[in-house]
Amino acid sequence: MNQSHELTTELNNKRVSLHTLGCRLNFSETGSIADGFVKRGYSVVDFGEPAEVTFINTCTVTDGADSTCRNLIRKAHRASPEGRIVVAGCYAQMDAERISKMVGVDLVLGTSEKYKVFDYLNEDEVDTIHIDKSTSFYEAATTQAEGHTRAFLKIQDGCNYVCSFCIIPQARGRSKAISIEQAVLNAKKVVDQGFKEVILTGVNIGEYEVNSGERLTDLVKELVAIDGLERLRLSSVEPNTITDELLDVFSSSSKFLEHFHIPLQSGDDEILRQMRRRYTVEEYRNIINKVITRFPNSGIGADIICGFPGEDQAQFENTYNLLKELPITHFHVFPYSSRVNTTAARMPDHIQHGVKKERVHALRTLGEAKLNLFAEDQVGSSNEVLFERKNDLGFWEGYTRNYIRVLVESDSDLKNQIRPVFLKDHDGTLRGEILN
Ligand code: SF4
Repeated sequence: MNQSHELTTELNNKRVSLHTLGCRLNFSETGSIADGFVKRGYSVVDFGEPAEVTFINTCTVTDGADSTCRNLIRKAHRASPEGRIVVAGCYAQMDAERISKMVGVDLVLGTSEKYKVFDYLNEDEVDTIHIDKSTSFYEAATTQAEGHTRAFLKIQDGCNYVCSFCIIPQARGRSKAISIEQAVLNAKKVVDQGFKEVILTGVNIGEYEVNSGERLTDLVKELVAIDGLERLRLSSVEPNTITDELLDVFSSSSKFLEHFHIPLQSGDDEILRQMRRRYTVEEYRNIINKVITRFPNSGIGADIICGFPGEDQAQFENTYNLLKELPITHFHVFPYSSRVNTTAARMPDHIQHGVKKERVHALRTLGEAKLNLFAEDQVGSSNEVLFERKNDLGFWEGYTRNYIRVLVESDSDLKNQIRPVFLKDHDGTLRGEILN
């Protein structure tokens, strides 16, 4: 009997519930960990259902993410008072002591240790906290155990930048990356499982070349050559890492989708300098213009932080006006959240909660209007849609190549199907019909 079979027999008939907070990278990592549970004989149940093990993969980008995690721990304990709760990832790494004292928590595993969850569960581990950081790269990809339609493939982790507001380099450590050979093998595995779309994820994927010694352009060329992989997207990519050569490679394959996520954070040069971002407003504008020239129908997302310490009204308006001017379609707006041991936390002139809230509201309102206009502009054209699910009203939902949600009526089973769709109407939601 081999070791994996022994594990399966030993742990059979157990249930695991998993919950992921935060970024796509976390989702890819939970996907691989969920797969590990399934291989060991666990069945995956919805979060909040009774389970022998609850695994929470946490985020600590904001204090809101931290408190959500603590609420989830309470919920998991109510659902399974006798179950074992494992709290893992970025928030676990940064606030292990506090989490370990919460009722029901058995294991607190940091950003590297979370991959050893099976060892710790098997060993009846006596110590609760394990947060040693490793320089190794841990592979991850979404799997069917998580039930997604789009696969998140991890190609990079950690970050060597020092943005003054950001806690992620402390939580995830220095940048590291996967080899092209291994990334291609992992992509083939998710394609073999039936995934048609792969999203490359990491903390700072534009740094891939610096860390792996291999070129991101070569990785993308190899990935688009995989039979069965029909769509490829990048998750968030820092503006200063988008090169002409990278855009050339994207342009050379129709598998690469017209959807980019390029964090801005602020549209004011002084605030960008205080944030220690690696570009100016003018450089950001040039990058967006290059992208839109190459891919005119692109959906472009941007992260924006409102109320960074010292941000005055005129500086906020610089951000507002820049976002109004540029063809950014998907806004991800967050109030500044002070994180311990970051440079920005020690800066003077923190902005009042009410002011941050107003600025967030103004930008989100602008973002909704711009996304609606973008969707309306698509009416009368056609686009390829990857369908994900049938909603409660009986409409099939999916996303276009440029990342707009579309609803269609159909009696066919469209789950995980890519179909050409005529975009016929927009009433707050884009509606279409399948083209034969
Ligand atoms: S690039 Fe900046 S914001 Fe992004 S993870 Fe690195 S330090 Fe944080």
